[in-house]
Amino acid sequence: MHPQLRSDLELLPQLLEEARQHAAAFLTGLDGRPVLPEGEPPAPVPLPEPGIGLRGALAEFTARWEGSLSGSAGPRYLGFVTGGVTPAALAGDWLTATLDQNSNSSLDPAGQQLERETVGWLRACFGLSAAQHGTLVSGATMSNTVGLAIAREWLGERLGVSPAEDGVAALGRVRVLSGAAHSSIAKGLSILGLGRGALLPVATLPGREAVDVAALERELARQPGPCVVVANAGTVNTVDFDDLRAIAALRERHDFWLHVDAAFGAFAALSPAHAHLVDGLDLADSICVDLHKWLNVPYDSAVQFSRRQDLQARVFRNSAAYLSPSPAAGPGVARGAEPDLVHLTPENSHRLRALAAWFTLRAYGRAGHQEIVERCVAGARALGEAVAGLAGLRLLAPVRLNVVCFTLAERPTEQRLAALARAVGQEVFLTPTVYQEVPALRAAFSNWRTTEDDVRRVVDALEPALAKAG
Ligand SMILES: *Cc1c(COP(=O)(O)O)cnc(C)c1O
Repeated sequence: MHPQLRSDLELLPQLLEEARQHAAAFLTGLDGRPVLPEGEPPAPVPLPEPGIGLRGALAEFTARWEGSLSGSAGPRYLGFVTGGVTPAALAGDWLTATLDQNSNSSLDPAGQQLERETVGWLRACFGLSAAQHGTLVSGATMSNTVGLAIAREWLGERLGVSPAEDGVAALGRVRVLSGAAHSSIAKGLSILGLGRGALLPVATLPGREAVDVAALERELARQPGPCVVVANAGTVNTVDFDDLRAIAALRERHDFWLHVDAAFGAFAALSPAHAHLVDGLDLADSICVDLHKWLNVPYDSAVQFSRRQDLQARVFRNSAAYLSPSPAAGPGVARGAEPDLVHLTPENSHRLRALAAWFTLRAYGRAGHQEIVERCVAGARALGEAVAGLAGLRLLAPVRLNVVCFTLAERPTEQRLAALARAVGQEVFLTPTVYQEVPALRAAFSNWRTTEDDVRRVVDALEPALAKAG
């Protein structure tokens, strides 16, 4: 064994204790760190010849890199839709690496069984029935892509072909109808060989990002054959929700696969006051939910649900003599049976991603996660009210859930908004967007640590920055 490896192995408990102390100090100091540090990150250097051991690597990481990394784990990183990591999720993630499982077959079954238990808990959180099978993937983009891949196979089933076996050309032109689809839908369509051009935008309701269901029905009536509808449950700009029940009811008259992108919107189900927003979610054929956002587990984690695990196994089937028996090809495969995970997702090998979610769900329960959701919503409401009350700012949409979309009252150019975001960047991280052709900023609340105090700090940072911006 290399001497550095041997020495680290001998000192393992001590070195892990040092790493743990380092992590604890980082988390304790999170509130005092700049949310977005100024200055450039270090320039990459070639790998130095001699190794320096774990202790040396930790010291070098701390000196060279740590200071330039953002406070994205903290309570005022409100850019994109960024969750934090609950204490239990953090411990779960540490153990994920510690145990280093790659359980995706019944030859070594415990890990995949733990994932199944976790999926059942998630299903209960989102009010889904047992008909929704679930698997964990690396993020909502991958979850949407998997959902669309199953939809693609369903289209094949309708037409009597299998894109998984015969290629996408067997399908001819595919149409995917959606109101305000997330950018990852187009990316998924590109990956799947359906093409970004397959996406057909449907009119949204006036002043809203929710699809106009009557317009959707008119578009469906124009389709020559079966198609795919992507419904949105929580859009990134204004957290608008399509009427899922009304869309699902259109299947009585039109033939389509219903995929719902509920990346963070699904968490509305945890709050009795907001659960109506995702009414009908269970009627979907496939559903995307991110876990590294509002569940507050570390990256990379999301779940994808689908009612047609048989089609999913047809797409992702991975046959090799050394793996577990695969579900046979052909119609009706694996219906009712539980295929091994190796046959259900784009990855073969993968970490025991479910463990962090398992830990946080078991530690805090539904009620704990409901409290996170409701506190985030209250924070967004409070910031929304403050923004509406500031002379220099203007709310662009009502705060429906956890995002505040706002702009400058005067001359809202991209440059002026970027300058404002930079001016407050030590205290709060906001990201730019364009909503209804108006450049804007978004503040998205999804970190379990964020409190009223943080909202006050954000407002206290915005006020002088606005005065300076003039
Ligand atoms: C964040 C998000 C995605 C993409 O999620 P990743 O985890 O970044 O892949 C997709 N859809 C919606 C609605 C989102 O908010």
